Amino acid sequence: MAAEAAVAAPPALERDTMPFFESVNRNFAKAAALLDYPRGLLEQIRVCRRVYYVQFPVRIRGEIQVIEGWRAEHSHHRLPCKGGIRYSETVGQEEIMALAALMTFKCAVVNVPFGGAKGGVKINPRNYTEEELERITRRYTTELIQKNFIGPSLDVPAPDYGTGPREMAWIADTYMAFRPDDINALGCVTGKPVEQGGVRGRTEATGLGVYFGLREALSLPELVRPLGLEPGLEGKRVIIQGFGNVGYHAAKFLQEGGAVITAVIEWDGAVYNPNGIDVEELHQHRRETGSILYYPKAKTIPMEERDSVLEYDCDILLPAALESQIHRHNAPRIKAKIVAEAANGPTTAAGEDILLQRGILVLPDIFLNAGGVVVSYFEWLKNIAHVRFGRLEKRFEERTNQQLVELVERLTGKSLSATERQLLRGPDEVSLVRSGLEDTMIAAFNEIYDIYKTRKGVQDLRTAAFVCAIDKIAKAYFQLGIFP
Ligand code: NAD
Repeated sequence: MAAEAAVAAPPALERDTMPFFESVNRNFAKAAALLDYPRGLLEQIRVCRRVYYVQFPVRIRGEIQVIEGWRAEHSHHRLPCKGGIRYSETVGQEEIMALAALMTFKCAVVNVPFGGAKGGVKINPRNYTEEELERITRRYTTELIQKNFIGPSLDVPAPDYGTGPREMAWIADTYMAFRPDDINALGCVTGKPVEQGGVRGRTEATGLGVYFGLREALSLPELVRPLGLEPGLEGKRVIIQGFGNVGYHAAKFLQEGGAVITAVIEWDGAVYNPNGIDVEELHQHRRETGSILYYPKAKTIPMEERDSVLEYDCDILLPAALESQIHRHNAPRIKAKIVAEAANGPTTAAGEDILLQRGILVLPDIFLNAGGVVVSYFEWLKNIAHVRFGRLEKRFEERTNQQLVELVERLTGKSLSATERQLLRGPDEVSLVRSGLEDTMIAAFNEIYDIYKTRKGVQDLRTAAFVCAIDKIAKAYFQLGIFP
């Protein structure tokens, strides 16, 4: 049976006040309506499988504070489930369920064999010392362990907004203390520091994936010329919102690829220079002063006006902070030709309708920011395989390359220069991870683009990405014979 009725799209007028999960559902419904799967199966793919809500006490500066936390596992069609943990004052169950759903579809788009999950702790990390954050993180992990919401074969968290490798190391350590007999215990979480079982290349993975995804989209003349742009990244003017893990790395790789970063927006204001901002210099300035503001080679825009910078003239607007940043009120004024969703859910459903009507290209989050989960998958594989990537083949490949070169040198009578000899080196972990990521992002883009071009009724890349994901998940359900 066709799926129109499975998850009906809400009426247009309600869309901007629509909760985040409903907004995800609306995108799901748009794609589901184009697919011919049984209604019940589509409903199973849409719903959130299980959610854990907990309130736990932590002693902070002599006082007991009750802290709220969540973990949502959206889908078990593949195990383990995978998804970051967010520390934010505004986090809530609905948001966590929406983000978990996005993880399910994201994993399917990039062919990572995981279900989707997400966790959240309702705190502002800036209000706590490192030692207090460690106590909160360890206590939250204990709660997850007790309810089987974490484990290398069950549910594997990762960093998200407000968390990073440090928190992941605390989580791994806590899990290992409780499960010393689990030989794969290190695979209970990804995004760990390299010394604690992480993989080289994870920290920058999401930003690098954003770069690969954008580079691929921009390489297609038939996609970018109608927007009034020339193919290629060179000279494209980019505005970045959020200069955290994703925003900073995306900005860095885009700049290295020839783009010009004209503005960076942070929570406390923005900096703007139409001739370009040096990403590394700005990063250094923030390290020294604690803020991007008053970076001497750009104009500072105060906090009250920071969101207006989203509407400045540019080629690419790259939201990399939080959800619902582009909505019905500012979408009519966005001047970018491409909105590149590095954050999760940065465009509301009503906002997107307006962008699409105005001919703006939206590169959807479930494709564009998937680099993090791709490399998390590599890290998990490394942890359960108990071997570093490249360990077996590095020396062997170097020797083979060396023998080939000696043969060519003998036959031609010419020797390679020192620079050319660099090419002889065998693969190391970071090169393997990066090339695996690049290949995955290119393949995923081509799959989505093919659906966009050829599937009847698909009018935007987000719907194409959802069609791609739902198709794969439905097939997985059939293959596994999950329904008795
Ligand atoms: P982060 O905490 O490292 O960075 C977020 C940045 O946004 C911070 O610097 C913060 O100060 C800034 N910010 C907060 N409110 C802002 C506002 N109103 N305007 C401008 N800037 C603001 O988080 P992150 O890991 O970079 O995640 C950013 C987004 O990317 C989130 O939506 C997250 O879900 C998504 N994401 C992250 C990853 C990952 O690997 N970290 C992977 C996929 C998606």
